[in-house]
Amino acid sequence: MSGNSHDASKPIRIGISSCLLGQEVRFDGGHKRDSFLTDTLGPQVEWVPVCPEVEIGLGIPREPVRLVRAADDAIRMVTTSTGVDHTETMARWAIARLEELAREDLCGYVLKKDSPSCGMEYVKTYSSGGTAERNGRGLFAAALMRRFPSLPVEEEGRLADPRIREDFIERVFAYARQKGRTPSACGPSEARSRRASASGGGAPRALRDDDRPRPERAQYRSVPVTVVGRPDRGIAGSTRDLAAVEEPLEVRLHGKPFAVIMRTPGEDRALAAGFLLSEGVVRTADDIGAVEHCRHPDRPDGHNVVDVYLLGESRTSLETLLADRRNVLTNSSCGLCGRVTIESLKTRASALPVSWTMTTSVAAGLPQRLRERQRVFDGTGGLHAAGLFTPDGICETSAEDVGRHNAVDKVIGAMVLDDRLPIASHALAVSGRASFEIVQKAWLAGIGLVCAVSAPSSLAIDLAEDAGITLLGFARGGGFNVYSHPARLPEL
Ligand code: SF4
Repeated sequence: MSGNSHDASKPIRIGISSCLLGQEVRFDGGHKRDSFLTDTLGPQVEWVPVCPEVEIGLGIPREPVRLVRAADDAIRMVTTSTGVDHTETMARWAIARLEELAREDLCGYVLKKDSPSCGMEYVKTYSSGGTAERNGRGLFAAALMRRFPSLPVEEEGRLADPRIREDFIERVFAYARQKGRTPSACGPSEARSRRASASGGGAPRALRDDDRPRPERAQYRSVPVTVVGRPDRGIAGSTRDLAAVEEPLEVRLHGKPFAVIMRTPGEDRALAAGFLLSEGVVRTADDIGAVEHCRHPDRPDGHNVVDVYLLGESRTSLETLLADRRNVLTNSSCGLCGRVTIESLKTRASALPVSWTMTTSVAAGLPQRLRERQRVFDGTGGLHAAGLFTPDGICETSAEDVGRHNAVDKVIGAMVLDDRLPIASHALAVSGRASFEIVQKAWLAGIGLVCAVSAPSSLAIDLAEDAGITLLGFARGGGFNVYSHPARLPEL
């Protein structure tokens, strides 16, 4: 985040809202100690506590503050009874404090939910009439996330979900590993502020990003699921599960379509900037004028469209870039995968008929049978695998690769070379999660059942439903969840 490389011999440092560590800094002199953070995660990391309200001098105890939407639509932070406005004080302090934090070698940040200073999302904002809507972000949290757009940030409330917790910890450790290897830690926000101060003013309004707190897009959603083989957990049959949301993000250059990225919503601007860096479109933050979500009134899906405005050499070569350009479908774990637009993401193949079935015990055993063929994984512990299985659970072919999509391509490609498409009576087992693209590959190959060791994304579930594919997730420990078309498992 500061450009410092992380010293692997030192514990990972994570910023945190002080009250979550048990520090008595809240407006009423209390705290919000979180035992997972203090007792479980705490011994493995070094916390860097920050209490914005105390640090701007509001004292303990103090009159509480809240977010209020002013007549000009700006968000102000004011005290609840006396109406004292602390917005400017907080903003000035945050600029300086964040520069200090940039030197703290942070690899993540945990924020206190619902706080008008620290809340990451869905913080209450009040109208002048006193009506509250949960659509805000704490002022310090907003400044933090603008200043460090790729820093893993979570709230303690969301960390109560084991999958979000696991994902956050993974992101923190991945961030720590990557520190010092990123070509430039400079984000577009930094570049923008540097340019603004150099020119003595901000960018033109049309190019300026929206700094108002705005509701985040959901990163997971509740889906119906049939649970099989989990008697130990006391759950079975129809229930609901949470699926990570996967949606297309269209990246535009100066309003013209350039690429499509499959992603979980959130940090879209950072994602677009990083994508353009890896594509060679930009080389430094100075090549980026602005990155902003589309707000055209005719685009209700504008949250899935990001416009990027280029500067300098990149701007000069814009027309060449666009002329040469193919639309690229990428996935967060696999890099470049195809050349399609949002409109053409779903293939036009027919839904697959139920022409064969499998017993639940064979289905539950697929991950273990795949694991037995992961010879490279045995040596490295780090490869994804895919395998094609007959309805009796016999593995016809399997492959390993650093990219799970590559592993799927290899097993399907082997069948293509044998002239055996469509693969109409085989199940595909994959060692990781089931993304949109894995289901799409299965559909195009005619594979009617996909079994993933980890979670499916929301878009994978939608596509499996359309494709007539039986989609199994969390296939481990002798059980699995069924997300679509259970007819291939007649015992259900
Ligand atoms: S939520 Fe933030 S501002 Fe409020 S007490 Fe906790 S650390 Fe301080």
